[in-house]
Amino acid sequence: MIHYSCDRCKRLIDTEEELRYSVKLEVCAAMEPLASDEFEDDRDHLLEVQEILERLDDLEDDNIGDEIYQKKHYDLCASCYREFIKNPLGREQPVHLGFSQN
Ligand SMILES: [Zn+2]
Repeated sequence: MIHYSCDRCKRLIDTEEELRYSVKLEVCAAMEPLASDEFEDDRDHLLEVQEILERLDDLEDDNIGDEIYQKKHYDLCASCYREFIKNPLGREQPVHLGFSQN
């Protein structure tokens, strides 16, 4: 049996007793096409990004790769999930909590 622990509070998650939430986070640098490229197909740009990523993979230089692309996977317990989803970007909480909760 696989045991999961919450990546936020480090508590063990008993999947028979409670839900485990899987957070998949993929962040990549948005590369805007240059003005001179405006007649090119969008797919070309995606290909270029793919090639850059592959080259970075070859280099195995994590620091450079992290600058433009990161993929993370977190397991969260139910209570941490509720906290996370309220503020996934880690913004500072507004002072008037509870004022307009819809
Ligand atoms: Zn947790």
